[in-house]
Amino acid sequence: METAGLTGLGYIGVRSARLDDWSSYATGLLGMQQVDRAGAVRAYRMDDRKQRLIVTEDEGKGEGLGFLGWEVADAAALDVLAARLDAHGTEVCRASRALADERHVADLIVFHDPAGNRLEAFHGPAVATDPFRPGRPISGFRTGPLGMGHAVLNVVDVEPLLPFYRDLLGFHVTDYGLRPYKLYFFHINGRHHSFAMVGSGKQGLHHFMVELYSLDDVGQGYDLAQLEDGRVAYTLGRHTNDHVTSFYSHTPSGFFIEYGWGGRVIDPATWQPHETHDGPSFWGHERLYMEPEQRARLREMRLSAAARGVRAPGSIPDCPWLDAVIASE
Ligand code: FE
Repeated sequence: METAGLTGLGYIGVRSARLDDWSSYATGLLGMQQVDRAGAVRAYRMDDRKQRLIVTEDEGKGEGLGFLGWEVADAAALDVLAARLDAHGTEVCRASRALADERHVADLIVFHDPAGNRLEAFHGPAVATDPFRPGRPISGFRTGPLGMGHAVLNVVDVEPLLPFYRDLLGFHVTDYGLRPYKLYFFHINGRHHSFAMVGSGKQGLHHFMVELYSLDDVGQGYDLAQLEDGRVAYTLGRHTNDHVTSFYSHTPSGFFIEYGWGGRVIDPATWQPHETHDGPSFWGHERLYMEPEQRARLREMRLSAAARGVRAPGSIPDCPWLDAVIASE
């Protein structure tokens, strides 16, 4: 099938009235760099680009996701995408010069998914002339060809959104799980997933993930997060599908940010989508905000994975004695 040409998650926009809370959280805990912006806008760098995270005060609209910015290769690819969306009945707006300048990109289009989430597609991101200076001493964010991380949306039901994301926008299914709720993971580059949907019955951003170069960046962030009452949302743990070791923290805007390390890189040319059965995590990721029954279900899945010796390949040297023990049980 012809591809829609998305190459990565380029930037994320958040609506919030809590700009100062975002400043201390994004720089002090996450290690992003705040850049000067006029008006009720805070923008943050994660790498050589002029901005990756944009927090805008939008009176009356509440806290939450503003937009997801998806990157395409060039002006021609943006035109192809706009025409494709238009041909399938999705209303597409060509952004003004002023908005493109605000986003620090050469050009962008604006459209909405069938659930009403605002999406943008752009090309030509502006690169800063001065080096990235992290808000705390971290080794840096793993971005580049993998994009800025991944975004996960809460949706009422995954199924009706599949034709839009998979068939129209060209997100490739990496894998999916059906229990304890429907979870679909999609890739558009080597990152195991740049996008996912969780059929939680809710709407809006569930979390986005940023990946660090060093596990120690994550561990030190975890220590910092634990200094704040109620900041940690998921304890440290490791995911079964993308192998990310991470914790999740509450943002000032009601969703989470996953702070991770060790993400799996796949080969999109040979990858086969498949169903997963092991639950979201090998271990950890205790969801502190959840009701006890929900937590118990997830814990059972983890303990079952542990009892079956399920672990990420390559994380330890071959261990024949353990495999033999497990096989004999
Ligand atoms: Fe995640």
